[in-house]
Amino acid sequence: MKVTAIPAFRDNYVWAIHDDHSAILVDPGEAAPILAWLERGQRHPVAILVTHHHADHVGGIREITARYDIPVYGPGNEAIPGRTHPLLGGETVQISELGLAFQVLATPGHTLGHLCYVGHGALFCGDTLFSCGCGRLFEGTPTQMHASLNRIKALPAETLVYCAHEYTLENLDFALAVEPNNPALQTRLAEVRSLLSQGKPTLPVSLGTEIATNPFLRFDQSSVAVAAAQHAGHPAQPGLATFTTVRAWRDGD
Ligand code: ZN
Ligand code: FE
Repeated sequence: MKVTAIPAFRDNYVWAIHDDHSAILVDPGEAAPILAWLERGQRHPVAILVTHHHADHVGGIREITARYDIPVYGPGNEAIPGRTHPLLGGETVQISELGLAFQVLATPGHTLGHLCYVGHGALFCGDTLFSCGCGRLFEGTPTQMHASLNRIKALPAETLVYCAHEYTLENLDFALAVEPNNPALQTRLAEVRSLLSQGKPTLPVSLGTEIATNPFLRFDQSSVAVAAAQHAGHPAQPGLATFTTVRAWRDGD
């Protein structure tokens, strides 16, 4: 299984999971760069996986399915253009052309129907988890997002995380404000600067690296709880209260 980033808009990545002939497209927000990539490699799309309903994740579906009659998997409780297979989490998606199977995880928070797809050592997490960040709570509650992130944290540490946006550098700024003395953040910052200076994506990143660096996965750490409490001016216990406080801090509250 190969995974290639197709850049879209300003900072989106459409992930193509592929071999030499076939490709699964994750969150095709914009058709033109995807169709160009397919033509360049002489590949055919065989399925579309959608994490949530936002336009930058679904905007290219109609143009792609007008050309290729392929299944569209996505949240069953969100409006997804062209969706053929509604999912709510707990299912397995089989893509026979590539011999791949993905588990569907319900991860409400950024949106209420948000899904992640997990398989073959990879996690496609849309706008739930970013490198050193997490999605804004547009529809869900902090309690829902905290539970969703705990579900992700329980995956094997070597899982490669494929986020839908290149937000890593700006997220690192915030992560360093929360934990200026976390040495893993300095290591990741050097790596990210080097990747970006070569014009490369900072993704995927291992879940283990995220657990060592991402303040939105480190809500159980006392260092993060203390920083959150200091910023907010009220106590924050490790866990949900710290997650909620750090999310509000990032939002500028
Ligand atoms: Zn979104
Ligand atoms: Fe997005």
